[in-house]
Amino acid sequence: MIDKKELEEVKKLLKGKGYKYTSAREKILKKILSLHSHFTAEELFYMLKKRYKVSRATVYRTLNILVDLGVVREYDFGKGKKLFEHIIGHKHHYHLICLGCGKIEEFKLDDEHERRLRAIANKLEFNVDSIVLSIYGFCKDCRGKSSKAKS
Ligand SMILES: [Zn+2]
Ligand SMILES: [Zn+2]
Ligand SMILES: [Zn+2]
Repeated sequence: MIDKKELEEVKKLLKGKGYKYTSAREKILKKILSLHSHFTAEELFYMLKKRYKVSRATVYRTLNILVDLGVVREYDFGKGKKLFEHIIGHKHHYHLICLGCGKIEEFKLDDEHERRLRAIANKLEFNVDSIVLSIYGFCKDCRGKSSKAKS
């Protein structure tokens, strides 16, 4: 399911920046807005390819434009592949990344915590644009496995 408001907002952004709103772009955009999990550019391309005639180059180019416009965020969680998700229309969230199974969980900070992070940056005379926070460790399942292995 896609949020019509998100779609309209991105359409406006694209047109405002002088990008053409082609039917290929619309298909890519709708697919991205329908995904509420992290995906790689290749995964996106194959999902689209199943139903439409789109080229890999168009998918990658559109994805990069959406990252530039702040519609999509790109993450490098250190697995040698970039992951994407759309952030437009959603409250900011952060990630927990399991070093065992690679699972990614999301969490939110309350406003007070975010304010504190911004205050720390401001104290260092730093103007905050965005905050990306990733916590690495082992999830419950992986922790269980490693403690069993040790005993
Ligand atoms: Zn959404
Ligand atoms: Zn795990
Ligand atoms: Zn996320």
